[in-house]
Amino acid sequence: MKTRIINARILTMEEGSEIFEGEIRIDGSRITYVGAPAETDEVFDSVIDAKRNLVLPGFKNAHTHSAMTFLRSSADDLPLLQWLNEQVFPFEAKLTADDIYSLSKLAILEYVTSGITSVMEMYMQPEAIAQAFDEMGMRVVQVGAANNFSQSTELVEHWYKTLNGKSELTGFRIGFHAEYTCSEDFIERIADIAERNRQPVFTHISEGQPEVDECIGRYGMTPVAFLAKKGVFRYGGAGYHLVHTTPEDIEILKENRIAVVTNSGSNMKLASGIAPIEDYLRAGIPVAIGTDGPASNNCLDIFREMFLTTGMAKLRAGSAAAVPAREVLKMVTCNAAKIMTIPDADVLAPGKLADLVMIDLNQPNMQPINKIDCNLVYSGSKQNVMMTMVHGRILYDQFDGRQNYHFDREPEEIYEVCQKIRDRILG
Ligand SMILES: [Zn+2]
Repeated sequence: MKTRIINARILTMEEGSEIFEGEIRIDGSRITYVGAPAETDEVFDSVIDAKRNLVLPGFKNAHTHSAMTFLRSSADDLPLLQWLNEQVFPFEAKLTADDIYSLSKLAILEYVTSGITSVMEMYMQPEAIAQAFDEMGMRVVQVGAANNFSQSTELVEHWYKTLNGKSELTGFRIGFHAEYTCSEDFIERIADIAERNRQPVFTHISEGQPEVDECIGRYGMTPVAFLAKKGVFRYGGAGYHLVHTTPEDIEILKENRIAVVTNSGSNMKLASGIAPIEDYLRAGIPVAIGTDGPASNNCLDIFREMFLTTGMAKLRAGSAAAVPAREVLKMVTCNAAKIMTIPDADVLAPGKLADLVMIDLNQPNMQPINKIDCNLVYSGSKQNVMMTMVHGRILYDQFDGRQNYHFDREPEEIYEVCQKIRDRILG
């Protein structure tokens, strides 16, 4: 399948890139040309007139628990640990692999409406999740969610060995749930697996202050210091949340090449705190953005996360100059691609993956045309997503003003199955 997108404003997100008018050509899953309009003898299966709308790399959601869609709006307004222990873990224990497959598909419908072209996923039943993403044509990098109560370190290594290379759209990396749900011995085994396979590790770290205080009580050091000391990050990786960190923690993150995935909506709704994003950037630590799961956020909307990330960072830094719009756009595109270990999804350039979005600028919230990258972050909304393309395939568009989903099942069929799962588990 060869596609040509003409008459586009293009933001490649390459270092120092500015928006220019031109065209993009795609052959199969890869971009073959990005540049000024030019004559060509090539024959295309599809030519899309962008009508001077914006095309940029697809947004990456660097931390989520997709199948938690079944818990959306079922347990809100509770403290984090009470929420987890009373309203999340007991119900999750009732989920089957089939449930997780369908619930993940509901999340994918939502991702594409927000211009999200890949996610970093942490949940149970990774085979079922990989199948859901693969069938819908959506890119996913899963990480182990193992802890003392569910999954084992052996399973994490088994999935690492069996779930990579099966599909061009799905991958699996070493991960575990969090320090506070894993024993010291468990964490040592994760560090061994990462060492043997020379792999980065991904986990929740320092989301709430009680978690940090308990870790200090247990081991005499913060979760960041403890995990680094255990050798978990010998090959780098990323921490999800990283809200409560000390200046010493930030040094450790930098030394160990641990990236930060911030989850602003979830941190705000669960009153976990405000992450020191400005401090991370100043230290040269790469930052990406995740929605976290739909039970804690509760929506999977990268536009809302972009706004909250810069807004909360400005509040924390006490400076409106903190974390400007272009930094936020890097977080959801090129930075995220590297952190999520899909480096070919970072920018628009020949040879890169055709994971891209088209943004409708002909809507009131994007007018007048001024600084388009500021519009995206400060006034943009998912209603502006005109097209979401993954691996060269259009999964969603609003070309005719209606929401068109390009999947083998209608959204309503997926809603119905998910409603039944919700009703069975929550009553
Ligand atoms: Zn999470």
